This record gives sequence, C-alpha cells and structure tokens, in this order.
Amino acid sequence: MSNTTDTTPLQQLQGNWSFPTAVSFGVGTIRQLPAACVEEGIKQPLLVTDAGLAKLEFVTELIDANQQADLNTRLFCEVKSNPTGSNVEAGVQAYQQGRHDGIIALGGGSALDAAKAIALMVGQHRPLWDFEDEGDNWLRVNAAGIAPLIAIPTTAGTGSEVGRAAVIVDETRQRKIIIFHPGMLANRVIADPALTAALPAALTAATGMDAFVHSLEAWCATGYHPMADGIALQAMTLISQWLPLAFSEGDNLEARSHMLAASMMGAVAFQKGLGAVHALAHPLGALYDKHHGLLNAILLPYVLQHNRPAIEHKLIHIARVLDLDDVSFEGFLRWVLELRQTLQIPDNLQAIGISTEQSELIGEMASQDPSAAGNPVVLRAEHYSTLFETAVHGQVIGKSF
Ligand SMILES: [Zn+2]
Repeated sequence: MSNTTDTTPLQQLQGNWSFPTAVSFGVGTIRQLPAACVEEGIKQPLLVTDAGLAKLEFVTELIDANQQADLNTRLFCEVKSNPTGSNVEAGVQAYQQGRHDGIIALGGGSALDAAKAIALMVGQHRPLWDFEDEGDNWLRVNAAGIAPLIAIPTTAGTGSEVGRAAVIVDETRQRKIIIFHPGMLANRVIADPALTAALPAALTAATGMDAFVHSLEAWCATGYHPMADGIALQAMTLISQWLPLAFSEGDNLEARSHMLAASMMGAVAFQKGLGAVHALAHPLGALYDKHHGLLNAILLPYVLQHNRPAIEHKLIHIARVLDLDDVSFEGFLRWVLELRQTLQIPDNLQAIGISTEQSELIGEMASQDPSAAGNPVVLRAEHYSTLFETAVHGQVIGKSF
C-alpha cells in the first residue's frame, strides 16, 4: 500500500460530536472536565480508574481542578486488568459511602468497563450477573437508577467509552460475562488524544489491534448493517495508516488522534456483531489473565484462515480499500502478518505462555460466548478447540506463508 498519509494540523483534529453520544474530541479537551460534570448535574463525582493510573500526576491534577470548581471528587482505583465482580461491588460500596452522584470513568477498557458496571449497579437490587447480555435480561434493569457517567479513555483500543456493555470476570465461574444495558452508554465522552501519548509501545500495539479486530469482525459478521460496515471500513483505514506511527512515535499526537477516533469507531461498528477472535479471546482472558488486545492480535490470522470460505470476498474488499498491492485473500493475510510483525506481536499463543492443556474447556466456553453468534461460519465447541490448538502452535500460518 502507499505510505503517504496526509498530515493535518492538530487544531483541525477537534470536534464536538453527538454520535453515538456527546463526544468532546481533541487535544486539550480534558480541561473541559469540571464544566462537563456541572452540565451533567454531577456535584460529587467518584473517579474510577486503575491503580497504575491513580499514581500519575495528571490524575491528581484532574482531581484538584475539580475541587477548585467545588466538585467534591474522590478516587476509587481497585480495578484489576480484567475487572471482577468484587471490583464492581467494592466500587458500589465506595459510591454509596461517599454519597456520590455520578461517575468519572478514566482509563483503558478495564477501568471504563468497571466504572460502567458500577454506574449500573448503584441503582439495582438484583445481583450483577442477572444482567448478563442474554435474551431480554437487560429489561430487568431499573434504568432510572443508573448513575450519570463521563468517560475519559486513556487508550485507543476497546472504545468502551462509546459502548453500552461491560466485560466483567465472574471469579466463581472463571468466566468473562458481558453486562449490557443501553443506559450504560456514557452521558458524555471526553476524548483527549494527549492522554494516550504516555501509553507504552507494547500496549499501543495491543490496544490498537483490538480496535482493528473490532472493525474487522464487525465487517465480516453476519447480518445486514451497512452503517456499521461503513464505519468499520474507515476505522480500518485509519488504523492501517496510523497505528505503526503511534507505535514507533508515541508522542505523535496526530497519530494518537486518529487512533483514538478509530477505536471509538470500532466499538460503534461492533454493534453489528463480533466473531470467533473475540469468542476465543474472552475465555483465554478469563483463564490466563492475558491482555485482551494481545490475544486478539495473536488469534486474528488463524481465525481468518478458518473463516476463509465465508469471508474471502469481504477481505478482498478491505484489501482494495486499504490500497494494498496484492488485492487478494493471501495479500490481505500477508499484510496482517506484516503489521503484527511491525508491532512486535508474537506469532502464536505458546509465545505468551498458553498451552493446549485446557483446549476442551476453551472450545466449550468459546462456543457459548455471545461474540460467537456474529462469526460468519458456525463453529461448534470442537471446532473452537482445534482452532485454539492451531493458534497455540502457529502451524497453519507457518506452512502457508
Ligand atoms: Zn475487543
């Protein structure tokens, strides 16, 4: 593909969007936080983030700025990298004890998901797992009880800031559960690309690939949703152009801006559905506590090969949109492998310490994962087990390319 990317002055990469919710986008928008709290009617916000971010000076500065605006802000940072049901419970307790009236969700997918689940749970009487994204469960929610929430992403990957669901680990069942309600969409998003500039290269790669996989799986998912398809294609275009630069030049705010926009687009697009990459990444994340985006990035080419009969024409279309030299299934797969290599992502799951030991269980869990429904090929548990084993050893890719 051509390597030319038009450069745009940063002051032009700004915007106030109202899709899918109110989004203040651009470098410096973080300064709008106190005003945003006031506009959302929040006077005593609970700031939910993870322990790593809580130590950073900019978080202290955010809290100070809020205090100066008479917004009594407290911090809650007991959030694991794969947030758990007990994290959510502890957050609900902190919210109630501090008599808070709204939530500021700050961080990557983990902190944002935990915060969204806390905002949901402060107004419910049923246990969290009753709201698992299955059938009509979401109708059980007392929507009026959901706390107002302002989401501030610090990574460009999950796009959880514009999503209506949260992925929470049920420790007793060792499963990742998707909790869903339309009211879990943030009331407001402050998307400041400068906040993602400190992200280390490896995390930039893993989160960026997560955004790519959201768009790709949405594009390939079954079902008719041309709006999602259009957004997915443009997100993949942006990621192909800017992720390598965000990875190699972390403080390039232009690259960070486009990646942050693309990650939100990926999350909007996957309302259409996801597929086998996510169906496998969810159980693997729950069982091995590995980074979600990294798992997706490793699994992707194996799933593409497996789904090939159903998606070949769709991948050829992406190859054309991305202006790849080789507009074919092989050309696209080769480009994905090269991108992974550029981003220093391992070839197989073995390289990150995952063995085939629990293959049967993983196959079973993947086939039951809600993401499996969008996969363009129907896969049973035994298919998922085989696919997983292939991704552990990296055989298929090794042979073909
Ligand atoms: Zn994902």
